[in-house]
Amino acid sequence: MRCPQCSARDSRVVDSRDLDDAVTIRRRRECTVCGVRFTTYERVEAARLVVVKRDGARQEWDRDKLASGLQKALTRRPVPEDAAEQAADEIEAELRAMGTSEVPSSQIGTLAMEKLRGLDQIAYIRFASVYQSFEDLEALKREVDSLYNERGTGARRKRRAAG
Ligand SMILES: [Zn+2]
Repeated sequence: MRCPQCSARDSRVVDSRDLDDAVTIRRRRECTVCGVRFTTYERVEAARLVVVKRDGARQEWDRDKLASGLQKALTRRPVPEDAAEQAADEIEAELRAMGTSEVPSSQIGTLAMEKLRGLDQIAYIRFASVYQSFEDLEALKREVDSLYNERGTGARRKRRAAG
């Protein structure tokens, strides 16, 4: 770990704490040469996780790929900037909590859709239309209808005057 100020390799840990996600350790370090203090984050290297696709092909779990898929669905939607990253982290935590080393891709898709559904309905429909590839407009309409129904009676509908 090089000092960001003088590039010395030697530093001592002055403080160390687990972050909320329980797999990241935050360390405050002090350079033994120039005395500057800086922070490092260490992640516990997690066990291998393999995704089994529909056709039986196996692929190394790729959290970043999921995050970018979620990010695409959330583009320009009114959600926090880190919503996709956070959702990807939560999904990974859920997958790891299952304690198995192989996860079907369909399960990841389901978890992702659940997250998006809670975050933003448009993002959910975007993701679902790619992932689930609704076989026709009727299937898509049913999904949208079910979202409307979930909103309950209190939902306001904007109605634009024609012309
Ligand atoms: Zn230094």
